[in-house]
Amino acid sequence: MPPLRPQPRFPENDTQPFWDATKRRELTYQTCNKCDGVIFYPRRHCPNCGSDDNTWKVSQGLGTVYTFSVIMQSRHPAFKDLGAYAVAYVDLDEGFRIMTNIVGIQDPIKDIQCGMRVKLRWEDQGEGEIALPMFEPA
Ligand SMILES: [Zn+2]
Repeated sequence: MPPLRPQPRFPENDTQPFWDATKRRELTYQTCNKCDGVIFYPRRHCPNCGSDDNTWKVSQGLGTVYTFSVIMQSRHPAFKDLGAYAVAYVDLDEGFRIMTNIVGIQDPIKDIQCGMRVKLRWEDQGEGEIALPMFEPA
């Protein structure tokens, strides 16, 4: 198995529920109970109104590529054998934006367009460990 990507360091009080949910292959986000705002990345307070009264929800994992960039070479041990790969912002249908990778394609330069529909695909990080949410063409 190739070396792991950089991992979150636990305990992580604000994002622990998010990472725990990835072990169940659930992509979670929060909504604010005061202003109904959508909160992502995971955090304690609503960035819109400051309330700490929020609810965790599970995304359906469907979205649209907002933008992307293709990394041609990375020397990090987890990435050096990947070849060219795409880092993207994906807008989920529930109203939040995540930085992620687009996978399941032949050529990241030719096969990705801004606005294309994508769906969630998990990358395992090991048995019983967190998983990373990535996206492939829908
Ligand atoms: Zn709020």
